[in-house]
Amino acid sequence: MSYIIAEHLSKQYGNGSATVTAVDDICFQIKEGEFIGIMGESGAGKSTLLGMMGAMNAPTSGRLIVDDIDVYGLRQEQRADFRREFLGFIFQSFHLVPYLTVIENVMLPLAVVKAKNKEKRTMAQEALRQVGLGEKANRLPNQISGGESERVAIARAIVNEPPVLLADEPTGNLDTKTTREIMELLLQLNRDGMTIIMVTHSLDCAGYARRIMKVSDGKLHEDHSNIRRIETWQKGERKIVPPPGQIQVLAAGSLHTG
Ligand code: ADP
Repeated sequence: MSYIIAEHLSKQYGNGSATVTAVDDICFQIKEGEFIGIMGESGAGKSTLLGMMGAMNAPTSGRLIVDDIDVYGLRQEQRADFRREFLGFIFQSFHLVPYLTVIENVMLPLAVVKAKNKEKRTMAQEALRQVGLGEKANRLPNQISGGESERVAIARAIVNEPPVLLADEPTGNLDTKTTREIMELLLQLNRDGMTIIMVTHSLDCAGYARRIMKVSDGKLHEDHSNIRRIETWQKGERKIVPPPGQIQVLAAGSLHTG
């Protein structure tokens, strides 16, 4: 059974002659445990699509079904609950609160969870252990490196154990070595069962995904040439070669005038 189903998702911004179709009638299915890379030019519609998958941006038409739940059929409060329970988010900027310690930052999403503070601290400590930062729980964000800050952001995203992790350019601000470490960490979370959906411009990062969706003009396209590009990057180091047909290429939001 497919876990995430997009049924003819479209998103338009503005109206009249200024209407922009950011996502244009996209359909796909994602199975539990997949590692998806979303690629495409700037303005192609990637962030809009990720926002729709993150229950944060309602489509103009179409449906998003996650684990049999019609996400945009939910009332706003129910959708917020859905987001908390099902989804973890990581972004290019870490958005850590500077005056809270590492562990307090990780505990933030648990604020609305009904549990004792001690229990929440244990959950946060476990998430920090998973990302290799168990020892730095009591530091402040300005006392850790950029790579470690990204790890804290990942710990915060996974602290309530969501089945799906959405990542928007998670390594955009990091050097090559740290990028690789973060990608290895995401790969490990994926091996542990988490479904990962990641927007990236980087072929290196896309090489970790098992399936590439490329957005072009707000549409999802098949592009088998992508397999070769990923293989080229892999240089024999990594043998993740998605079977033909599993690669989908999504391309820039189409501008409709008139
Ligand atoms: P990408 O993430 O691939 O760069 P986006 O999803 O951000 O693409 O944008 C797709 C298209 O939709 C672009 O033409 C962008 O200018 C437009 N767009 C995105 N968000 C908005 C918005 N809130 N209002 C109006 N237009 C938007």
